[in-house]
Amino acid sequence: MTDTQLPVQTLPAEPAGSAVPQERRIVTAIPGPRSQELHARRTAVVSAGVSSALPVYIARAHGAVIEDVDGNRFLDFGAGIGVTTAGHTPARVVEAAIDQSRDVLHTLFTVTPYEEYVRVAELLAEHTPGDFAKRSVLVNSGAEAVENGVKIARKHTGRRAVAVLDHAYHGRTNLTMAMNYKAMPYATGFGPLAGDVYHAPSSYPYRDGLTGAEAAARTIGYLEKVVGASDLACLVVEPIQGEGGFMVPADGYLPALQEWCTAAGVVMIADEIQTGMARTGRVYAAEHFGWTPDLVLTAKGVAAGFPLAAVTGRAEIMDAAHAGGLGGTFGGNPVACAAAIAVFETIEADGLLAEAQRIEATLTAGLERLRERHPIIGDIRGRGAMIAIELVQPGTAETTKAPNAEAVSKVIAYAAEHGVLLLNAGTWGNVLRFLPSLRMTDELVEDALGVIGDAFASLG
Ligand code: PLP
Repeated sequence: MTDTQLPVQTLPAEPAGSAVPQERRIVTAIPGPRSQELHARRTAVVSAGVSSALPVYIARAHGAVIEDVDGNRFLDFGAGIGVTTAGHTPARVVEAAIDQSRDVLHTLFTVTPYEEYVRVAELLAEHTPGDFAKRSVLVNSGAEAVENGVKIARKHTGRRAVAVLDHAYHGRTNLTMAMNYKAMPYATGFGPLAGDVYHAPSSYPYRDGLTGAEAAARTIGYLEKVVGASDLACLVVEPIQGEGGFMVPADGYLPALQEWCTAAGVVMIADEIQTGMARTGRVYAAEHFGWTPDLVLTAKGVAAGFPLAAVTGRAEIMDAAHAGGLGGTFGGNPVACAAAIAVFETIEADGLLAEAQRIEATLTAGLERLRERHPIIGDIRGRGAMIAIELVQPGTAETTKAPNAEAVSKVIAYAAEHGVLLLNAGTWGNVLRFLPSLRMTDELVEDALGVIGDAFASLG
Protein backbone atom coordinates (compact mmCIF):
# COMPACT_ATOMS: atom_id res chain seq x y z
CA MET A 1 0.00 0.00 0.00
CA THR A 2 1.40 3.41 -0.88
CA ASP A 3 1.11 6.25 1.54
CA THR A 4 -1.76 7.86 -0.30
CA GLN A 5 -4.01 4.78 -0.56
CA LEU A 6 -6.91 4.61 1.85
CA PRO A 7 -6.48 1.86 4.44
CA VAL A 8 -8.87 -1.07 4.20
CA GLN A 9 -11.63 -0.48 6.72
CA THR A 10 -12.31 -3.24 9.23
CA LEU A 11 -15.00 -3.28 11.88
CA PRO A 12 -13.52 -2.28 15.22
CA ALA A 13 -12.56 -5.27 17.38
CA GLU A 14 -14.14 -3.46 20.32
CA PRO A 15 -17.56 -2.14 19.29
CA ALA A 16 -17.59 0.36 22.14
CA GLY A 17 -14.76 2.29 20.51
CA SER A 18 -11.03 2.19 21.05
CA ALA A 19 -10.43 2.64 24.76
CA VAL A 20 -7.91 5.45 24.95
CA PRO A 21 -6.38 5.74 28.46
CA GLN A 22 -7.90 8.75 30.21
CA GLU A 23 -4.68 10.65 30.78
CA ARG A 24 -2.55 13.46 29.41
CA ARG A 25 0.65 12.26 27.75
CA ILE A 26 3.05 14.18 25.53
CA VAL A 27 5.78 12.11 23.88
CA THR A 28 6.88 14.32 20.95
CA ALA A 29 7.13 17.98 20.07
CA ILE A 30 3.68 19.34 19.14
CA PRO A 31 2.85 18.75 16.34
CA GLY A 32 4.79 15.47 16.19
CA PRO A 33 6.61 14.11 13.11
CA ARG A 34 3.72 11.98 11.81
CA SER A 35 1.31 14.92 12.19
CA GLN A 36 3.76 17.11 10.31
CA GLU A 37 3.91 14.57 7.45
CA LEU A 38 0.11 14.49 7.27
CA HIS A 39 -0.02 18.26 7.38
CA ALA A 40 2.26 18.48 4.35
CA ARG A 41 -0.03 16.06 2.46
CA ARG A 42 -3.08 18.03 3.54
CA THR A 43 -1.67 21.35 2.40
CA ALA A 44 -1.33 19.93 -1.11
CA VAL A 45 -4.98 18.87 -1.38
CA VAL A 46 -7.18 20.62 1.20
CA SER A 47 -8.36 24.17 0.60
CA ALA A 48 -6.42 26.84 2.44
CA GLY A 49 -9.83 28.15 3.54
CA VAL A 50 -10.13 25.19 5.94
CA SER A 51 -7.86 25.80 8.90
CA SER A 52 -7.23 23.72 12.03
CA ALA A 53 -6.86 25.17 15.52
CA LEU A 54 -4.28 22.54 16.47
CA PRO A 55 -2.78 20.61 13.53
CA VAL A 56 -2.23 17.33 15.37
CA TYR A 57 -3.88 14.51 13.44
CA ILE A 58 -6.10 12.34 15.58
CA ALA A 59 -5.90 8.57 15.46
CA ARG A 60 -8.24 7.58 18.30
CA ALA A 61 -10.54 9.25 20.80
CA HIS A 62 -12.50 8.02 23.76
CA GLY A 63 -14.23 9.62 26.72
CA ALA A 64 -12.52 12.96 27.34
CA VAL A 65 -9.19 12.20 25.65
CA ILE A 66 -7.99 12.36 22.04
CA GLU A 67 -4.81 10.59 20.91
CA ASP A 68 -2.83 11.77 17.92
CA VAL A 69 -0.93 9.77 15.31
CA ASP A 70 2.31 10.29 17.26
CA GLY A 71 0.86 8.81 20.45
CA ASN A 72 0.31 12.15 22.25
CA ARG A 73 -2.82 12.27 24.41
CA PHE A 74 -4.74 15.50 24.94
CA LEU A 75 -7.39 16.36 27.51
CA ASP A 76 -10.03 17.59 25.11
CA PHE A 77 -11.68 20.82 26.27
CA GLY A 78 -13.08 21.46 22.79
CA ALA A 79 -15.09 18.29 22.14
CA GLY A 80 -15.14 19.07 18.42
CA ILE A 81 -16.71 22.42 19.37
CA GLY A 82 -19.32 21.01 21.67
CA VAL A 83 -20.23 17.87 19.74
CA THR A 84 -18.91 14.93 21.74
CA THR A 85 -20.83 16.02 24.81
CA ALA A 86 -21.70 12.42 25.70
CA GLY A 87 -18.02 11.53 25.27
CA HIS A 88 -15.86 10.44 22.40
CA THR A 89 -16.97 7.06 20.99
CA PRO A 90 -19.58 6.41 23.72
CA ALA A 91 -20.41 2.71 23.88
CA ARG A 92 -24.17 2.88 23.30
CA VAL A 93 -23.81 5.24 20.37
CA VAL A 94 -21.09 3.22 18.67
CA GLU A 95 -23.07 0.00 19.03
CA ALA A 96 -26.33 1.59 17.88
CA ALA A 97 -24.63 3.03 14.79
CA ILE A 98 -23.01 -0.29 13.89
CA ASP A 99 -26.32 -2.16 14.33
CA GLN A 100 -28.20 0.40 12.28
CA SER A 101 -25.54 0.34 9.55
CA ARG A 102 -26.14 -3.37 9.07
CA ASP A 103 -29.91 -2.83 8.67
CA VAL A 104 -30.28 0.25 6.50
CA LEU A 105 -27.94 3.13 5.63
CA HIS A 106 -30.27 5.30 3.60
CA THR A 107 -33.65 5.40 1.95
CA LEU A 108 -34.51 9.10 2.34
CA PHE A 109 -37.34 9.77 4.74
CA THR A 110 -39.20 11.82 2.12
CA VAL A 111 -39.20 8.80 -0.22
CA THR A 112 -39.70 5.83 2.13
CA PRO A 113 -39.73 6.63 5.86
CA TYR A 114 -38.35 4.64 8.82
CA GLU A 115 -38.98 4.45 12.56
CA GLU A 116 -35.68 5.97 13.79
CA TYR A 117 -36.59 9.41 12.39
CA VAL A 118 -39.97 9.27 14.13
CA ARG A 119 -38.35 8.19 17.41
CA VAL A 120 -35.89 11.10 17.32
CA ALA A 121 -38.79 13.51 16.72
CA GLU A 122 -40.60 11.97 19.72
CA LEU A 123 -37.53 12.43 21.92
CA LEU A 124 -37.10 16.03 20.77
CA ALA A 125 -40.76 16.75 21.52
CA GLU A 126 -40.34 15.24 24.98
CA HIS A 127 -37.11 17.03 25.91
CA THR A 128 -37.39 20.50 24.38
CA PRO A 129 -38.94 23.08 26.73
CA GLY A 130 -42.72 23.55 26.66
CA ASP A 131 -45.68 21.32 27.29
CA PHE A 132 -47.56 21.67 24.01
CA ALA A 133 -47.93 19.76 20.74
CA LYS A 134 -44.66 19.86 18.79
CA ARG A 135 -43.33 18.79 15.43
CA SER A 136 -39.76 18.39 14.14
CA VAL A 137 -37.85 18.34 10.89
CA LEU A 138 -34.42 16.68 10.79
CA VAL A 139 -31.55 18.08 8.75
CA ASN A 140 -27.76 17.70 8.54
CA SER A 141 -26.08 20.64 10.22
CA GLY A 142 -26.62 23.49 12.59
CA ALA A 143 -26.66 26.11 9.84
CA GLU A 144 -29.24 24.07 7.96
CA ALA A 145 -31.40 23.98 11.07
CA VAL A 146 -31.14 27.78 11.35
CA GLU A 147 -32.09 28.16 7.68
CA ASN A 148 -35.10 25.90 8.13
CA GLY A 149 -36.20 27.65 11.31
CA VAL A 150 -36.22 30.95 9.42
CA LYS A 151 -38.06 29.43 6.43
CA ILE A 152 -40.75 28.03 8.70
CA ALA A 153 -41.12 31.27 10.67
CA ARG A 154 -41.49 33.26 7.44
CA LYS A 155 -44.09 30.87 6.09
CA HIS A 156 -46.04 30.92 9.35
CA THR A 157 -46.00 34.70 9.78
CA GLY A 158 -46.00 35.80 6.13
CA ARG A 159 -43.32 38.33 7.17
CA ARG A 160 -39.85 38.90 5.75
CA ALA A 161 -37.41 40.19 8.37
CA VAL A 162 -35.07 38.15 10.57
CA ALA A 163 -33.54 39.51 13.77
CA VAL A 164 -30.51 38.27 15.66
CA LEU A 165 -28.44 39.65 18.52
CA ASP A 166 -25.06 41.35 18.62
CA HIS A 167 -22.24 38.80 19.16
CA ALA A 168 -24.34 36.00 17.64
CA TYR A 169 -23.04 33.11 15.58
CA HIS A 170 -25.39 30.99 13.49
CA GLY A 171 -23.35 29.33 10.72
CA ARG A 172 -21.60 29.56 7.38
CA THR A 173 -24.33 29.26 4.73
CA ASN A 174 -25.45 32.34 2.81
CA LEU A 175 -28.30 33.28 5.15
CA THR A 176 -26.44 32.40 8.34
CA MET A 177 -23.31 34.35 7.29
CA ALA A 178 -25.56 37.41 7.34
CA MET A 179 -26.81 36.44 10.82
CA ASN A 180 -23.34 36.38 12.40
CA TYR A 181 -21.93 39.36 14.26
CA LYS A 182 -18.34 38.99 13.08
CA ALA A 183 -17.55 39.45 9.40
CA MET A 184 -14.07 37.96 9.76
CA PRO A 185 -13.57 35.05 9.24
CA TYR A 186 -17.11 34.00 8.43
CA ALA A 187 -18.30 36.39 5.71
CA THR A 188 -15.46 38.63 4.55
CA GLY A 189 -15.32 38.49 0.75
CA PHE A 190 -18.10 35.90 0.48
CA GLY A 191 -20.97 38.29 -0.25
CA PRO A 192 -23.44 39.42 -1.39
CA LEU A 193 -25.10 38.32 1.82
CA ALA A 194 -28.80 37.67 2.40
CA GLY A 195 -30.84 40.79 3.14
CA ASP A 196 -33.51 41.55 5.71
CA VAL A 197 -31.32 40.46 8.62
CA TYR A 198 -31.15 42.86 11.59
CA HIS A 199 -28.68 42.83 14.48
CA ALA A 200 -30.20 44.00 17.74
CA PRO A 201 -28.29 44.83 20.95
CA SER A 202 -27.91 41.84 23.29
CA SER A 203 -27.43 41.28 27.01
CA TYR A 204 -23.74 41.17 27.95
CA PRO A 205 -23.71 41.76 31.71
CA TYR A 206 -19.90 41.97 32.07
CA ARG A 207 -19.71 44.81 29.56
CA ASP A 208 -23.10 46.54 29.59
CA GLY A 209 -23.97 46.28 33.29
CA LEU A 210 -27.68 46.24 32.43
CA THR A 211 -30.37 44.24 34.22
CA GLY A 212 -32.38 41.77 32.18
CA ALA A 213 -35.30 44.20 32.02
CA GLU A 214 -33.07 47.07 30.86
CA ALA A 215 -31.31 44.96 28.24
CA ALA A 216 -34.65 43.59 26.98
CA ALA A 217 -36.07 47.11 26.70
CA ARG A 218 -33.02 48.09 24.63
CA THR A 219 -33.39 45.07 22.31
CA ILE A 220 -37.14 45.57 21.89
CA GLY A 221 -36.69 49.30 21.32
CA TYR A 222 -34.30 48.51 18.47
CA LEU A 223 -36.65 45.94 16.92
CA GLU A 224 -39.64 48.26 17.09
CA LYS A 225 -37.80 51.26 15.68
CA VAL A 226 -35.43 49.74 13.13
CA VAL A 227 -37.43 46.76 11.87
CA GLY A 228 -41.04 47.19 12.96
CA ALA A 229 -42.82 44.23 14.53
CA SER A 230 -45.27 43.87 11.66
CA ASP A 231 -42.43 42.99 9.26
CA LEU A 232 -40.52 40.75 11.67
CA ALA A 233 -40.85 36.99 11.13
CA CYS A 234 -38.47 35.77 13.82
CA LEU A 235 -35.92 36.59 16.47
CA VAL A 236 -33.16 33.97 16.66
CA VAL A 237 -31.25 33.84 19.96
CA GLU A 238 -28.60 31.60 21.52
CA PRO A 239 -29.54 31.21 25.23
CA ILE A 240 -25.81 31.42 26.02
CA GLN A 241 -23.89 32.87 23.10
CA GLY A 242 -21.30 30.36 21.91
CA GLU A 243 -18.73 31.72 19.47
CA GLY A 244 -19.48 35.21 20.82
CA GLY A 245 -17.87 34.24 24.13
CA PHE A 246 -20.32 32.30 26.36
CA MET A 247 -22.26 35.36 27.45
CA VAL A 248 -24.92 34.41 29.97
CA PRO A 249 -27.77 36.92 29.63
CA ALA A 250 -28.99 38.86 32.66
CA ASP A 251 -31.92 37.33 34.58
CA GLY A 252 -35.28 37.94 32.97
CA TYR A 253 -33.84 39.00 29.61
CA LEU A 254 -34.94 35.98 27.55
CA PRO A 255 -38.47 35.61 29.00
CA ALA A 256 -39.03 39.35 28.44
CA LEU A 257 -38.07 38.99 24.77
CA GLN A 258 -40.32 35.93 24.42
CA GLU A 259 -43.22 37.83 25.96
CA TRP A 260 -42.75 40.68 23.50
CA CYS A 261 -42.41 38.26 20.55
CA THR A 262 -45.60 36.41 21.50
CA ALA A 263 -47.55 39.65 21.78
CA ALA A 264 -46.14 40.91 18.46
CA GLY A 265 -46.70 37.63 16.58
CA VAL A 266 -42.96 37.14 16.10
CA VAL A 267 -41.57 33.58 16.23
CA MET A 268 -38.81 33.39 18.83
CA ILE A 269 -36.25 30.72 18.01
CA ALA A 270 -33.72 29.30 20.46
CA ASP A 271 -30.48 28.39 18.73
CA GLU A 272 -29.46 25.60 21.13
CA ILE A 273 -26.96 24.18 18.67
CA GLN A 274 -24.01 24.68 21.03
CA THR A 275 -25.89 24.81 24.35
CA GLY A 276 -28.27 21.88 23.91
CA MET A 277 -28.10 18.17 24.70
CA ALA A 278 -27.08 18.33 28.39
CA ARG A 279 -24.10 20.60 27.74
CA THR A 280 -25.15 23.17 30.37
CA GLY A 281 -26.54 20.79 32.99
CA ARG A 282 -30.06 20.91 31.53
CA VAL A 283 -31.05 19.12 28.34
CA TYR A 284 -31.70 22.58 26.85
CA ALA A 285 -30.13 25.76 28.25
CA ALA A 286 -33.35 27.78 27.84
CA GLU A 287 -34.54 25.95 30.97
CA HIS A 288 -31.96 27.83 33.09
CA PHE A 289 -33.65 31.09 32.21
CA GLY A 290 -37.31 30.13 32.48
CA TRP A 291 -37.61 30.56 28.72
CA THR A 292 -40.02 28.52 26.59
CA PRO A 293 -39.12 29.29 22.97
CA ASP A 294 -41.50 28.81 20.03
CA LEU A 295 -38.90 26.82 18.06
CA VAL A 296 -35.71 25.12 19.24
CA LEU A 297 -32.70 24.29 17.04
CA THR A 298 -30.67 21.22 17.98
CA ALA A 299 -27.43 19.95 16.38
CA LYS A 300 -23.84 19.26 17.52
CA GLY A 301 -24.20 17.01 20.60
CA VAL A 302 -27.41 15.32 19.48
CA ALA A 303 -25.69 12.40 17.74
CA ALA A 304 -22.20 12.40 19.34
CA GLY A 305 -20.46 13.20 16.06
CA PHE A 306 -22.85 11.91 13.40
CA PRO A 307 -24.25 14.76 11.33
CA LEU A 308 -27.76 15.45 12.51
CA ALA A 309 -29.72 18.58 13.37
CA ALA A 310 -33.32 19.50 13.99
CA VAL A 311 -35.91 22.22 14.17
CA THR A 312 -38.51 21.43 16.83
CA GLY A 313 -41.41 23.54 17.99
CA ARG A 314 -45.01 24.50 18.25
CA ALA A 315 -47.09 22.31 15.96
CA GLU A 316 -49.05 25.23 14.49
CA ILE A 317 -45.83 26.98 13.43
CA MET A 318 -44.01 23.87 12.18
CA ASP A 319 -47.04 22.70 10.22
CA ALA A 320 -47.26 26.01 8.35
CA ALA A 321 -44.74 24.58 5.89
CA HIS A 322 -46.48 23.00 2.92
CA ALA A 323 -45.98 19.29 2.10
CA GLY A 324 -42.66 18.88 0.29
CA GLY A 325 -41.46 22.30 1.51
CA LEU A 326 -38.96 20.80 3.97
CA GLY A 327 -36.42 18.03 3.50
CA GLY A 328 -33.11 17.23 1.83
CA THR A 329 -31.27 14.09 0.73
CA PHE A 330 -29.45 13.18 3.92
CA GLY A 331 -31.58 14.88 6.60
CA GLY A 332 -32.41 12.45 9.39
CA ASN A 333 -30.10 9.71 8.09
CA PRO A 334 -30.98 6.41 9.83
CA VAL A 335 -27.50 5.87 11.30
CA ALA A 336 -27.39 9.43 12.65
CA CYS A 337 -30.89 8.91 14.10
CA ALA A 338 -29.88 5.63 15.77
CA ALA A 339 -26.91 7.48 17.27
CA ALA A 340 -29.17 10.27 18.54
CA ILE A 341 -31.56 7.82 20.19
CA ALA A 342 -28.54 6.30 21.97
CA VAL A 343 -27.35 9.78 23.04
CA PHE A 344 -30.72 10.51 24.69
CA GLU A 345 -30.51 7.12 26.46
CA THR A 346 -26.95 7.85 27.55
CA ILE A 347 -27.84 11.26 29.01
CA GLU A 348 -30.39 9.58 31.23
CA ALA A 349 -28.66 6.27 32.02
CA ASP A 350 -25.29 7.87 32.82
CA GLY A 351 -26.66 10.89 34.68
CA LEU A 352 -24.96 13.33 32.31
CA LEU A 353 -26.89 16.38 33.56
CA ALA A 354 -25.31 15.89 36.97
CA GLU A 355 -21.92 15.36 35.34
CA ALA A 356 -22.21 18.76 33.63
CA GLN A 357 -23.05 20.36 36.97
CA ARG A 358 -20.07 18.62 38.60
CA ILE A 359 -17.74 19.92 35.88
CA GLU A 360 -19.10 23.46 36.36
CA ALA A 361 -18.40 23.32 40.10
CA THR A 362 -14.85 21.98 39.79
CA LEU A 363 -13.87 24.16 36.87
CA THR A 364 -15.26 27.44 38.16
CA ALA A 365 -13.74 26.89 41.62
CA GLY A 366 -10.34 26.32 39.99
CA LEU A 367 -10.73 29.34 37.72
CA GLU A 368 -11.72 31.52 40.68
CA ARG A 369 -8.47 30.47 42.39
CA LEU A 370 -6.59 31.35 39.22
CA ARG A 371 -8.27 34.78 39.04
CA GLU A 372 -6.92 35.65 42.51
CA ARG A 373 -3.42 35.34 41.08
CA HIS A 374 -4.13 36.71 37.61
CA PRO A 375 -6.37 39.80 37.49
CA ILE A 376 -6.28 39.73 33.68
CA ILE A 377 -9.12 37.22 34.13
CA GLY A 378 -11.88 39.82 33.94
CA ASP A 379 -14.90 37.50 33.97
CA ILE A 380 -15.74 33.85 34.62
CA ARG A 381 -19.08 32.75 33.23
CA GLY A 382 -21.15 29.94 31.76
CA ARG A 383 -23.21 26.96 32.84
CA GLY A 384 -22.38 23.29 33.17
CA ALA A 385 -19.60 22.16 30.85
CA MET A 386 -19.77 25.45 28.94
CA ILE A 387 -17.53 27.78 30.93
CA ALA A 388 -15.38 30.67 29.75
CA ILE A 389 -12.99 33.26 31.05
CA GLU A 390 -12.66 36.67 29.42
CA LEU A 391 -9.16 38.12 29.48
CA VAL A 392 -8.47 41.84 29.63
CA GLN A 393 -5.32 43.94 29.59
CA PRO A 394 -3.34 44.06 32.85
CA GLY A 395 -4.28 46.92 35.11
CA THR A 396 -7.34 47.88 33.12
CA ALA A 397 -9.85 45.31 34.35
CA GLU A 398 -11.80 47.79 36.45
CA THR A 399 -11.68 50.59 33.94
CA THR A 400 -11.53 49.92 30.22
CA LYS A 401 -11.79 46.11 30.13
CA ALA A 402 -9.66 46.25 27.01
CA PRO A 403 -9.67 42.79 25.38
CA ASN A 404 -6.51 40.71 25.67
CA ALA A 405 -6.49 38.27 22.76
CA GLU A 406 -2.70 37.86 22.87
CA ALA A 407 -2.86 36.29 26.33
CA VAL A 408 -5.57 33.89 25.15
CA SER A 409 -3.44 32.77 22.21
CA LYS A 410 -0.40 32.26 24.43
CA VAL A 411 -2.32 30.24 27.02
CA ILE A 412 -3.83 28.05 24.28
CA ALA A 413 -0.42 27.42 22.70
CA TYR A 414 1.19 26.59 26.05
CA ALA A 415 -1.67 24.27 27.01
CA ALA A 416 -1.52 22.43 23.65
CA GLU A 417 2.20 21.78 24.08
CA HIS A 418 1.42 20.29 27.48
CA GLY A 419 -1.50 18.10 26.41
CA VAL A 420 -4.55 20.28 27.04
CA LEU A 421 -6.71 21.27 24.08
CA LEU A 422 -8.44 24.62 24.62
CA LEU A 423 -10.39 26.85 22.24
CA ASN A 424 -10.74 30.59 21.99
CA ALA A 425 -13.97 32.50 21.41
CA GLY A 426 -15.33 36.00 21.65
CA THR A 427 -15.96 38.90 19.35
CA TRP A 428 -12.43 40.17 20.12
CA GLY A 429 -10.84 36.69 20.42
CA ASN A 430 -10.16 37.35 24.12
CA VAL A 431 -12.24 34.54 25.59
CA LEU A 432 -10.88 31.15 26.59
CA ARG A 433 -13.61 28.58 26.52
CA PHE A 434 -13.94 25.21 28.21
CA LEU A 435 -16.28 22.89 26.35
CA PRO A 436 -15.30 19.38 27.45
CA SER A 437 -17.18 16.15 27.10
CA LEU A 438 -19.22 15.29 30.17
CA ARG A 439 -16.80 12.36 30.70
CA MET A 440 -14.10 14.77 31.88
CA THR A 441 -13.41 13.64 35.46
CA ASP A 442 -12.61 16.04 38.30
CA GLU A 443 -9.11 14.57 38.37
CA LEU A 444 -8.60 15.50 34.71
CA VAL A 445 -10.12 18.96 35.23
CA GLU A 446 -7.67 19.58 38.10
CA ASP A 447 -4.80 18.30 35.97
CA ALA A 448 -5.78 20.70 33.18
CA LEU A 449 -6.14 23.57 35.66
CA GLY A 450 -2.54 22.91 36.78
CA VAL A 451 -1.34 23.26 33.18
CA ILE A 452 -3.44 26.39 32.66
CA GLY A 453 -2.04 27.87 35.88
CA ASP A 454 1.50 27.29 34.56
CA ALA A 455 0.45 28.84 31.25
CA PHE A 456 -0.75 32.01 33.01
CA ALA A 457 2.43 32.09 35.11
CA SER A 458 4.49 31.90 31.90
CA LEU A 459 2.83 35.10 30.61
CA GLY A 460 5.07 37.01 33.03
N1 PLP B 1 -25.44 28.01 15.83
C1 PLP B 1 -24.58 27.94 16.84
C2 PLP B 1 -24.95 28.55 18.16
C3 PLP B 1 -23.35 27.31 16.69
O1 PLP B 1 -22.49 27.26 17.71
C4 PLP B 1 -23.04 26.74 15.43
C5 PLP B 1 -21.73 26.08 15.22
O2 PLP B 1 -20.75 26.33 15.89
C6 PLP B 1 -23.97 26.82 14.40
C7 PLP B 1 -25.17 27.46 14.62
C8 PLP B 1 -23.68 26.22 13.05
O3 PLP B 1 -23.68 24.83 13.14
P1 PLP B 1 -22.98 23.96 12.00
O4 PLP B 1 -21.51 24.23 12.10
O5 PLP B 1 -23.34 22.53 12.35
O6 PLP B 1 -23.56 24.39 10.70
